[in-house]
Amino acid sequence: MLLLSVLLAAQAVAAHAPAAASSVDSLMAPGVSRSLATYRAARVRDVRYDLTLDVTGRDTARGHVTVRFARGGGPNAGDAILDFRGLALDSARANGRPVAGLVANGAHVRVPAVALRDGENTLDFRFAAAVAPAGASVIRLHDTVDGADYLYTLLVPADANALFPCFDQPDLKARVTFTLRTPRAWTAVANGALRDSSDDGRTRTFRFAETRPISTYLIAFAAGPWQTRTRTIDGRRITMYVRASRATEAETDSLIAENARGLAWLERYFDRPYPFGKYDFVLAPAFPFGGMEHPGAVFYNEETFIYRERPTLTQRLGRSATIYHEVAHQWFGDLVTMQWFDDLWLKEGFASYMAAKMQDALDPASMAWKTFYLRNKPPAYGVDVTEGTTPVWQALANLDQAKSNYGAIVYNKAPAVLKQLDYLVGDTAFRDGLRAYLAEHAFANATWRDLLQAIGTAAGRDLTAWGSSYVLRPGIPVLEATATGETPSGTSVAAVRVTQRPTRALSGRAPWPIRTELLAWGDGSEPVRRRVALDSASATVRLPRPVARPALLFPNAGDYAYAVTLLDSGSVAWTERHLGVVDDAFLRAMLWGSLWDLVREARLAPAHYLALVNRELPAEQDEQVVSAVLTRAARAMSRYVSDAQRDSLLPALEGTLLRVAYDTSRGYGIRKSNLDALVAIAGTPATLARLDALLDSADVAGIPLRPPTRWAIVAALVERAAPGAERLLAAETRRDSTTEGQRRAFVAGAARPTAESKARYFRRYFADSTLNEDWATASLGAFNAPAQQRLTLPYLVPALDSLRWIQRNRRIFFLGAWLDAFLTAQTSPAAAARVDEFLRTHPRLPADLRSKLLQSADELRRTVAIRRAYAREDGHAAGAARSDRRD
Ligand SMILES: [Zn+2]
Repeated sequence: MLLLSVLLAAQAVAAHAPAAASSVDSLMAPGVSRSLATYRAARVRDVRYDLTLDVTGRDTARGHVTVRFARGGGPNAGDAILDFRGLALDSARANGRPVAGLVANGAHVRVPAVALRDGENTLDFRFAAAVAPAGASVIRLHDTVDGADYLYTLLVPADANALFPCFDQPDLKARVTFTLRTPRAWTAVANGALRDSSDDGRTRTFRFAETRPISTYLIAFAAGPWQTRTRTIDGRRITMYVRASRATEAETDSLIAENARGLAWLERYFDRPYPFGKYDFVLAPAFPFGGMEHPGAVFYNEETFIYRERPTLTQRLGRSATIYHEVAHQWFGDLVTMQWFDDLWLKEGFASYMAAKMQDALDPASMAWKTFYLRNKPPAYGVDVTEGTTPVWQALANLDQAKSNYGAIVYNKAPAVLKQLDYLVGDTAFRDGLRAYLAEHAFANATWRDLLQAIGTAAGRDLTAWGSSYVLRPGIPVLEATATGETPSGTSVAAVRVTQRPTRALSGRAPWPIRTELLAWGDGSEPVRRRVALDSASATVRLPRPVARPALLFPNAGDYAYAVTLLDSGSVAWTERHLGVVDDAFLRAMLWGSLWDLVREARLAPAHYLALVNRELPAEQDEQVVSAVLTRAARAMSRYVSDAQRDSLLPALEGTLLRVAYDTSRGYGIRKSNLDALVAIAGTPATLARLDALLDSADVAGIPLRPPTRWAIVAALVERAAPGAERLLAAETRRDSTTEGQRRAFVAGAARPTAESKARYFRRYFADSTLNEDWATASLGAFNAPAQQRLTLPYLVPALDSLRWIQRNRRIFFLGAWLDAFLTAQTSPAAAARVDEFLRTHPRLPADLRSKLLQSADELRRTVAIRRAYAREDGHAAGAARSDRRD
């Protein structure tokens, strides 16, 4: 046996020797392939980057990096390959000498093995990288109020190598030492603590301390004439960086306190101190994300963190959720990092789930799980019911496609699935499992299997099958409940059959292991709740006592299950009668959600839903429920009903929204949500004239009218070609000369209903390198106003033709926003046919882009189906739900 295996091994080496060189050649292809990552992970250890960057130039950062690493992999470890696609590589040295035979191909830098040693190596590179408003690793924002420039990096998922030569993969963590040379009046922040700074009379140099090991995508700095605000809370010193022109508006104390509160709570929960020493955050202007979790230097979206008008509860809870999300990332993502971006969900799912847990613990009265339901479930279901959905774990061959892995599946489904897991194993096992996982993989990397292993061990339960169902399998079950055991009279329900089925064939036929709660609530009786373990297609639940019919049978009380919950016809009838008297706002939120799911399944007429909104919502007391339902109502009104139905329904809904907006007995958030919805749907000449007149007043019955709402009104009037709209746009542009005002004017211009304007905007999306990506994103909805679909239909196919360009040139969330905007602008069968035709004629569209396209196309297809089913019905008569159970 021994001899034979030696012989076989020798043959294997001989057979592979020539192939090895060419396979190393293939690692030089664009992007960071999984093969390259695997090659390097086996050879490179103990990485350190000593990075010096001069950002005193306007469009170019000049830099020098010393890369230290230990080279393993034995005597034939081969060449070292780094990633670099910056502007220029000016010089390269290996272990103190110029490198003969160095290859730099615009994607990678290959240092031949002869220039390297076993063990410790030092590489030195001089390079240049781009600084630009968009499309560069260093973003420059010009503040039009005071003429100042601000710089910040955004390197996720694989743009560190657009800044400097590095091993740009998450499992080669490095200690980073930053030195930054800036104009003299600037300040700067980076991952490490500031050690010192010096001034040569013209420029200032900031030297930051070495960090603990962090992944390259987490490296960050910001530089500019930032104002700083420092507070010390319970011994923790936190500095906030904010641009000068907005510093007085920022709620410094509460923002710093909320970050500190999150850190303190998680230290207790994880039983592990904050891992990175100092903690600061930056309110980054024109930031394309909500936040980014750079260890020690978190960036938040300035626009959503500094309110320009009194915020609604939904806005404030959204800001808290973002803070808690980024704070949770310091442990989940930063301390323990996914080995590869196929496990992106590990960090994103956890950050969002922990944010909700934290909110629930810190402020029980806020009903955090209602917020969690409203924020997470609809987007998750929206994607997971489509043909383009993916598993939570998403295969990824190259980091240049990692952007496609971002979306509702990792941000919204993953936390929802974790809620189901927590419910299955219980809070204590869940927490102990997380503690063990963090302890085992601190400052290193892990996979989802490591996580389930840790939680499974803590729970004394094998989670392999659970993982296969929820992590590896795409799609979502539909959960339904029907009465089975009736009492002899037929007037009450004694038992309920809870069933599950996959939404689509792509999920396979096997049942999911579902742990849920059934709520049965009959006319005139107290509600009954029962836990349900559903491991097969159906389970029969006997109620402790019969409930009268018609009854609400809701199989996901508490929202523990991850499933689309559809109501049977009896439950719809009950809901329509009792929605106003259900005193649990969380349950009301879910019932409104289930009714909406029936609309989207073309089983409940959108006109009927709108009539229900018009009747029930004015009495709704929960601000978040009001805001969520009105968003859906606006969608139904602008897209799901026919023109005739809209003409018939719109005046009544406008009247209701106006009445509630002016009702001073109602809370601010409810009134503001109604005003916002009115601006979104206004269409009758009388209401448009009323909005126009509002621009001349300072308030709406006591609600001050500030620029964001003024701009929304102006954009609505431009979009609907109201008389004098262009004059109003010009006047508002003069009135608000801030950067945000310019952005809003750009967005309002995108809504202009002329072919010439559409052509100009569409060209700028691609050709204008000065156009900030955040501006482009913000304008996509206005460009694609549903009422202008005849004007935008010609751009549908060009928008699809540009997907590869967008994937290369735009940041992670742009592609989905682009597709959603162009596809949801359309409601016609002709538009749906063009999308189908595009899919047919592009069989070689990369799988990730095809998935994204199918995800966004689903809403268009549903819209067409809903209109086909109900568009001919009279708006008021369109009635009963077609919610009888299908087999
Ligand atoms: Zn995140």
